Amino acid sequence: MPAQALPSTTAPRPQVRPTPEGWVQPMGPDGRPMLRFASPRVKQPPQHFADLSLEERQAKVSELGLPGFRAKQLSKHYFEHYTADAERMTDLPKDGRSELVGELFPTLLTEVKRLSTDRGDTIKFLWRLFDGALVESVLMRYPGRITLCVSSQAGCGMNCPFCATGQAGLTRNLSTAEIVDQVVQANRVIAAGELGGGRGTDGPTRVGNIVFMGMGEPLANYKRVMAAVHRMVDPAPAGLGMSARNITVSTVGLVPAIRKLTDESLPVTFALSLHAPDDELRDELIPVNTRWKVDEALDAAREYFEKTGRRVSIEYALIKDMNDHAWRAQLLADKLNARGRGWVHVNPIPLNPTPGSIWTSSEREVEQQFVETLLANGIPTTLRDTRGKEIDGACGQLAAAE
Ligand code: SF4
Repeated sequence: MPAQALPSTTAPRPQVRPTPEGWVQPMGPDGRPMLRFASPRVKQPPQHFADLSLEERQAKVSELGLPGFRAKQLSKHYFEHYTADAERMTDLPKDGRSELVGELFPTLLTEVKRLSTDRGDTIKFLWRLFDGALVESVLMRYPGRITLCVSSQAGCGMNCPFCATGQAGLTRNLSTAEIVDQVVQANRVIAAGELGGGRGTDGPTRVGNIVFMGMGEPLANYKRVMAAVHRMVDPAPAGLGMSARNITVSTVGLVPAIRKLTDESLPVTFALSLHAPDDELRDELIPVNTRWKVDEALDAAREYFEKTGRRVSIEYALIKDMNDHAWRAQLLADKLNARGRGWVHVNPIPLNPTPGSIWTSSEREVEQQFVETLLANGIPTTLRDTRGKEIDGACGQLAAAE
């Protein structure tokens, strides 16, 4: 009797090693990938109203010879009506108004390109910054919520070999206002009825959820990202009045910064982009793992849960024959369960099919087995949506190019 072929999920599976295709990982003298944690010292964008807290705005307008209450009026225009247009600020004295607005609201993001998919429910923006650097944000309408994926850096210094952004290196940190303005501009687009292809909708009318999963490693730009989160959650008119719970700050595992985040009293959602449960693979897949290992990152994530009570998300991009093995799902479950129950949620992310590349999507049944292994071990798991993949707007695909 001929031997029966085993189903693909139980057949021995090959191990594909993460190799950057057409790109060389720069190595340091210590034999580890050369990562860039600090922003290069380059010219910073002009100060913008959104860089300042409400108190600082009051001080700023007084400095410009105006009464302090003008700061609130200006804040209302920007954070509630999403405008930085002097013509629309008719409650301000006409005399000197455009000069004042020009001084407080310098143009930070200029739209270069807009790509739309999902019948207009997903828009990817390409922005040019004051110094010519390019960044992207992706706006997505779902039933009952609107999410914006924001960039925190121009480029990224973490060199993940699968990520187009990482391969371009780090240009610089974004300023607080450059981050906040991505949200304000998105709200302006929504208010103009441009999200959802002009279809009438009774859904939300502004961005309610933020994910820091665009360009850059948010925790490598810690101070500015935190200030931006404050602007997002501060009640109007000081800020956008969003819920901190709806803001997801992700990291590839900068452990000291995770600890710092734990000590903030901001109940944001914390996401660890793990992508591999074993150091051998993760050292190559997420080079920052050569600084802080899987167990250290998981310990820090668990501490985040302990101190904040907020359940941690583990992001796991499923890559065919690289990290999608059943034994890895089991190892991940074991490592998570070893740190207690009910503290974590895993989001496997199906990668986009890329024929001919080693960075391609797992087979459907392999994906399913990965999810089922986690579920069978009591780990809440949700296969994530890959919205925006037609326009290269999914995470790890953002490489700004005109
Ligand atoms: S995956 Fe994230 S951390 Fe890694 S290089 Fe890309 S943007 Fe940076």
